[in-house]
Amino acid sequence: MRLYNTMTRKKEEFRPLKEGAVSMYVCGPTVYNFIHIGNARPMIVFDTVRRYFEYKGYDVNFVSNFTDVDDKIIRKAIEEGVSADEISGRYIKECRKDMEGMNIRPATHHPLATEEIGGMIDMIEELIQKGYAYEKNGTVYFRTRQFDGYGKLSHKNLDDLRSGNRSLLVSGEDQKEDPLDFVLWKPKKEGEPAWKSPWSEGRPGWHIECSVMSRKYLGEQIDIHAGGEDLIFPHHENEIAQSEAANGKEFARYWMHNAFLNIDNHKMSKSLGNFRTVREISEQYDLQVLRFFMLSAHYRSPLNFSAELMESSANGLERIVNAAKNLRYLADNAKTDDLTEQEEENLSKTENYVRAFEAAMDDDFNTADAIAAVFDLVRFCNTTATEESSGNYVRALLDVLVKLTDVLGIDADREEEILDADIEALIEERQAARKERNFARADEIRNELAARGILLEDTREGVKWKRT
Ligand code: AMP
Ligand code: ZN
Repeated sequence: MRLYNTMTRKKEEFRPLKEGAVSMYVCGPTVYNFIHIGNARPMIVFDTVRRYFEYKGYDVNFVSNFTDVDDKIIRKAIEEGVSADEISGRYIKECRKDMEGMNIRPATHHPLATEEIGGMIDMIEELIQKGYAYEKNGTVYFRTRQFDGYGKLSHKNLDDLRSGNRSLLVSGEDQKEDPLDFVLWKPKKEGEPAWKSPWSEGRPGWHIECSVMSRKYLGEQIDIHAGGEDLIFPHHENEIAQSEAANGKEFARYWMHNAFLNIDNHKMSKSLGNFRTVREISEQYDLQVLRFFMLSAHYRSPLNFSAELMESSANGLERIVNAAKNLRYLADNAKTDDLTEQEEENLSKTENYVRAFEAAMDDDFNTADAIAAVFDLVRFCNTTATEESSGNYVRALLDVLVKLTDVLGIDADREEEILDADIEALIEERQAARKERNFARADEIRNELAARGILLEDTREGVKWKRT
């Protein structure tokens, strides 16, 4: 398996630190609003990376934080006249809902910055002790020039950075020893959330949280650190400086970054008014369509969001879902289960599609080519599975199709689930009708469900149902 490492600017063979295991940290969103479709790109991309590692048999420890203390959260809290906790709590909940809609599996751990302040204070103390950080009037700065490797991820030259930054000295930061030094801890301003520390009552800088949470949940050294490409500098560069200065060892073996998502060929921004949240998209499409759209391009290529591309993604996804539905129907109605010789030969041919899929994914997670292999498989299914096919044949085809789409986080069986929700709703309505002694309506619902092949059973634990 090869993946592109931003650090070396090369595709490298993936070699895990521990055989059969992958430790991965993905920088998560700052939660002050509904997530936008740009935020969804790294979520979808790295969830797919995780799924593929698991498909290959790796045990993946996947950590992704929520940044729940930040200027933007505080500003929003002041605007609404509520606490910062209320804002972050609300949008973490909404973010999880969107993630579920996009079939993004919850991380092994989703740490919150505000719950890890103690660890941040400890790491800042370590850095001060080792001479990598210093305090001035309650603020603690990282002494950037003390760390030899600064600039190695973003391939920036320290001297250029320094001269470019000299003019950036903002008021209050003129006490820094060097313009490149960055904040690890800052004193609170009036009305801001704050924690006690040896230096001042205040809050941590943004970069330190990821160094601390990564070490706590994954150890001093990890396999993969990931995020959007805007995080390369300064966020990831600063994380490397903090972690390597504190731990004395290489922080992450591989650095992966997704390219940006644009809208109608423009950068997405509030001021341009082309800002789209995942929630808005969900009003128009099943969020699987958004996921499928994101994976239709390689993660390191810029991707343009447009109505036309979403339409064509919806059509593509439908072709896959329909193929799965057709196979299921054929399996349920097959006259025999015995494989013919021709069917056996056909099944061995499906390995070609699996190989093409894996070859694409092994090459730096080329999901665009992997999807092409899935479409080839769909075509093969549609042409070789008929009413005459054996049950075992169509089931085997369906298994291969589901195995591959599952890596992409596309649930080819989703329609069934929607149907399930629909059934549950009718059952609830029937229960309510019975409570009101509206037996006519209750019977009507029972009959309607029966017509759809759903058998109800009233038990002591409530109503159970099964497909007949
Ligand atoms: P933020 O909440 O701004 O820290 O962003 C959370 C994640 O979304 C980071 O990994 C960002 O790099 C990523 N991100 C933000 N905007 C975009 C975009 N337009 N396209 C792709 N990734 C983005
Ligand atoms: Zn981070």
